Amino acid sequence: MIQNRKDVMGYFPDPYPDELFYSICARFAERMSYSPTIAARALSLPTHASVGFFLPYNLDLLAETLPPRHSYTADSFIDGHSILPYWGPFMQSATYSLIRGEMKKRRGQGALAYCGYVGPRYLRQFIRYCPKCVSADRGRWGEAYWHRQHQIPGVLVCETHSVFLLDSELSVATALRDKKLLSAESCALSTLLGQLQLSDTRHCALLAIARDVDWLLHAGVPRCPEAIRTNFLELLKQNGFVRKTIVKRDELRSAIIKRYSSSLLCELCSSIGEPGHIVDVAKLYRAHISVRDPINQLVLMHFLGHTAQSFFATIPAIMNLSPDRSGVLE
Ligand SMILES: [Zn+2]
Repeated sequence: MIQNRKDVMGYFPDPYPDELFYSICARFAERMSYSPTIAARALSLPTHASVGFFLPYNLDLLAETLPPRHSYTADSFIDGHSILPYWGPFMQSATYSLIRGEMKKRRGQGALAYCGYVGPRYLRQFIRYCPKCVSADRGRWGEAYWHRQHQIPGVLVCETHSVFLLDSELSVATALRDKKLLSAESCALSTLLGQLQLSDTRHCALLAIARDVDWLLHAGVPRCPEAIRTNFLELLKQNGFVRKTIVKRDELRSAIIKRYSSSLLCELCSSIGEPGHIVDVAKLYRAHISVRDPINQLVLMHFLGHTAQSFFATIPAIMNLSPDRSGVLE
């Protein structure tokens, strides 16, 4: 079996900052003139599935077979090139450890199962890019690449350049179905710029969410679901959304929809505007295995006057904590 071998590869591309794992694999395949199947075999990745757009797995074996000059590890791929750091702070530590472990081991597609409900939101979209990032990356690195943060559902703008992201010709679902490995440079990329207008409250909200996602991807916030829940409840109390010990959920949801509109919440991939949605902060972090997309919580932070950074900074145990990805605060 090809996956049992430990032959060292002769070449592996250096990952770029915040590059989506899929993008690294696509550049590797094109540089080596490999088909997706051959590339997956060479990278010790499962050939029956995608290379893992968002939560790659089999990473221990990949790290073992990298050329000697590389120092990349399964952990560096997870932290720098998967979406797990975005989800991590909101997860129960047991769930987080399970998913991280699944991503490292062979046939670890369980990571996807734990985040199973992610599917529709993540799969229905096209791979996105920022025209200004494309230009900047070509100038700095000699080529464009797919950025991780641009693929997070709800991130519609580039937080660096304050422009709207554009859809590429490559849909995630098609790439998975047809086992396509296409780098950014192999796709036709437009230079059309949609500049954000910071006098537009919708644009400001989109930019705020993009900045929050960027911060979460890179800040190394430890798992702290109970502290998040406590912080939310305190902020809701301060803002008049708690009567005695009960969160006024209907009132809260109506106020959020009034502030952002259902259409903007839909654009952000937040379910708060959907009929029947219940903003149930008290039950956000039950100790169960399922995982919730953080977008609703980012919207709630924003609604309560915080960025992700300022929200976490008000949690005393985090305020003075240097980034430590192994940390747990519960
Ligand atoms: Zn950009």
